[in-house]
Amino acid sequence: MSKAIVATTSLAGCFGCHMSLLDIDERILKLIELVEFNKSPIDDIKTFTKQCDVGLIEGGCCNSENVHVLKEFRKNCKILISVGECAIMGGLPAMRNNIPVEECIQEAYLDGPTVGNNTDKILPNDDELPMILDKVYPCHEIVKIDYHLPGCPPRADLLWEALVALLTGNELKLPYEVVKFD
Ligand code: SF4
Repeated sequence: MSKAIVATTSLAGCFGCHMSLLDIDERILKLIELVEFNKSPIDDIKTFTKQCDVGLIEGGCCNSENVHVLKEFRKNCKILISVGECAIMGGLPAMRNNIPVEECIQEAYLDGPTVGNNTDKILPNDDELPMILDKVYPCHEIVKIDYHLPGCPPRADLLWEALVALLTGNELKLPYEVVKFD
C-alpha cells in the first residue's frame, strides 16, 4: 500500500494539538509506515511539494497570513480536517471577538501593564507583517472543512483512531472516553 501524504499546520494555535499528535507515543512508528509528511512543522517542510491526501489544521484565522495558508491547504489537500477547538471555534484567541480590534491593539502596544517602554507610542507597521483581522474566524468560515476533531487538544487516541480509519478506509469507532470537548 502506498503511503498517504499528510500535511499539517498551526494557524492561530498554540501547537498543543501538534503535541497531542506526538503523544501517540510508540504508535508514531506505525504512523510513519502509513504516512509520508509533506508541508508540516513535524518535518519542517515549508512549502507544498506535492498534492496531499490529508491536511490537519490547528488554530483558527486571526490574520491575513492564516487565511492565505488555510486556502493553500484547501487547494493542496483532498481532505481537510479542523483539529481542536481553535480551528473549530476560534478557541482562546477568539476571546477578543467582542472587543473592537483597535482597542485590542491599543491595549497590547500602548496601554497594557506589560507594554513597558514604548514611549514613542509606536504601533507595528512593517509591510511584511500580516494584517490582523477584525475577529478570529474558525476555519470552516473561510474554506470547506471535511471533518472536525474536537478537544483542547483532541486526545492522542482520537487523532490516532481518526487518522487510521481515514487512511485505511475502516469504520471509525470512537469510544466515548476518547472524545472530549474542552
Ligand atoms: S485547541 Fe487547545 S491545544 Fe489546540 S491549538 Fe487551540 S489552545 Fe492549543
